[in-house]
Amino acid sequence: MIKTDTLIIGAGPVGLFCVHQLGIIGLKCEVVDNLDKIGGQCIELYPDKPIYDIPAVPECTGEELTNNLIEQIKAFKTNFHLNERVEEIKKIEKKWITKTNKGTEFESSSIIIAAGVGSFEPRKFSTKEIDKFVGKEILYSIRDKTVFKDKTVCIFGGGDSALDWAIELSSTSKVILVHRRDDFRGMQASIDKIHQLKEEGKIEIYTKYQMDSVQGKDKVESINIKHDDKTIKEIKTDYVLGFFGLIMQLGPIAEWGLNLDKKTVPVNTESFETNKEGIFAIGDICSYPGKLKLILSGFHEGALAARGCFKYAKPDEKYRFEFTTSSKTVKERLGVK
Ligand code: FAD
Repeated sequence: MIKTDTLIIGAGPVGLFCVHQLGIIGLKCEVVDNLDKIGGQCIELYPDKPIYDIPAVPECTGEELTNNLIEQIKAFKTNFHLNERVEEIKKIEKKWITKTNKGTEFESSSIIIAAGVGSFEPRKFSTKEIDKFVGKEILYSIRDKTVFKDKTVCIFGGGDSALDWAIELSSTSKVILVHRRDDFRGMQASIDKIHQLKEEGKIEIYTKYQMDSVQGKDKVESINIKHDDKTIKEIKTDYVLGFFGLIMQLGPIAEWGLNLDKKTVPVNTESFETNKEGIFAIGDICSYPGKLKLILSGFHEGALAARGCFKYAKPDEKYRFEFTTSSKTVKERLGVK
């Protein structure tokens, strides 16, 4: 059981800035995110796109914003629990107990939900009876590309992720690319490269095919793919990678007894607390009259939610407002002189 003052659900830009706001007022937190990386929508959906409406930052990409937010909270040495989805929350006396799908448990006096549009989940194969291979030879994301070295890898999908990985792995693995359409949707430079690799005999491509079945007892040995004209082709392969994009699901948050309004969590705008005492919601997931789904609004919401958490973490202390420019205590917490 990991004990902390506040648990933040979601490592998007809003959750990240909230770590800062909790840190400067002396509260500890842990952060859980379902994704394999920090940054939420900024890093998952638009890392290279420029953002023009972050106050005092005329232009930065989604990735740059994320890196700067990470830099800004470095002093607090916060633990991030990635690849874990918060599944259950329950209250025992005055503490909230939170459990993830990997079994990690937290005890905190408050929870801040900064879960954006919910958890990002990969779209999956609809093929029956493949579950026993998922996470072993059938994968929807790559953590360690070295496992594919000198193996046959069958990649499904026609967007940027499928093309990028087909290009990347083609130098170390035998790559077979399968797509249900005739044309690819990725960046033109990647599409050109894929066709070049095919001409050079470095990858095989099957278009208008979809997954039909998987064969193998303890591990995948081969798969059958089915053409639009119903003909079946068998492919011997060691790994199968599916890159069909992400779906966003509110997921378990809907089961926590919170008031919901069109997949968002209504809050009061004084502290961004929900209908449950000690549970706050900030960023894209929260709603209130006039809510703007912008990063800058989320930063403000996080600042007030952090102050709202103070009374639960330190019920016997009174929160004292201080500027970062002039407070000795805040500067010490930030590790600056
Ligand atoms: P998110 O960024 O969505 O992060 C939430 C995180 O919570 C995710 O990483 C998710 O995996 C995690 N999560 C959810 N549920 C769980 C769970 N149960 N357990 C664990 N983790 C969970 N905004 C601007 O201000 N300016 C712009 O120019 C701009 N451009 C945009 C361009 C695009 C293409 C898109 C898609 C959005 C843009 N936005 C822009 C909107 C902005 O990205 C969002 O407002 C912002 O990301 C919201 O931040 P957040 O931290 O609330 O949520």
